[in-house]
Amino acid sequence: MTRVAIALGSNLGDRRAHLQFAISRLRKILTNVRISSIHETTPEGVDGPQPDYLNAVVAGFTTLSPIVLLQTLLAIERERGRTRPSPRASRTLDLDLILYGDEVIDTPELTVPHPRYLDRRFVTEPLEEVW
Ligand code: AMP
Repeated sequence: MTRVAIALGSNLGDRRAHLQFAISRLRKILTNVRISSIHETTPEGVDGPQPDYLNAVVAGFTTLSPIVLLQTLLAIERERGRTRPSPRASRTLDLDLILYGDEVIDTPELTVPHPRYLDRRFVTEPLEEVW
């Protein structure tokens, strides 16, 4: 079992419903789940005006490998109609693997710890609640 942290974000459509959906899916693949409060945040580093985000962090333990966990997160995003018209576009649901135990991973598909997460208050604040 490896302890993991996953950051959730949504700024399109029914933001709360997207986060609740992700949390219910994550409960199926993690044990000892801890869920932060939901934080409403102003978009950072995006081009032009965008709606505010709802952000949260979920922590738990998993037997899934890092790459299978990433693929599972991407599949959950797709279930909420996630599209990528441009790199920092508004999104129904964004799931990022922030921490996978104390592993350091740097492959074309996956970088862990997630790059820049320490600069993102919308990740570090909810992370502190659960990690
Ligand atoms: P995004 O559009 O920001 O959701 O980026 C998704 C892509 O980033 C995925 O297809 C992954 O291959 C890649 N990626 C690299 N590292 C991570 C990570 N730690 N968590 C989530 N996605 C990652």
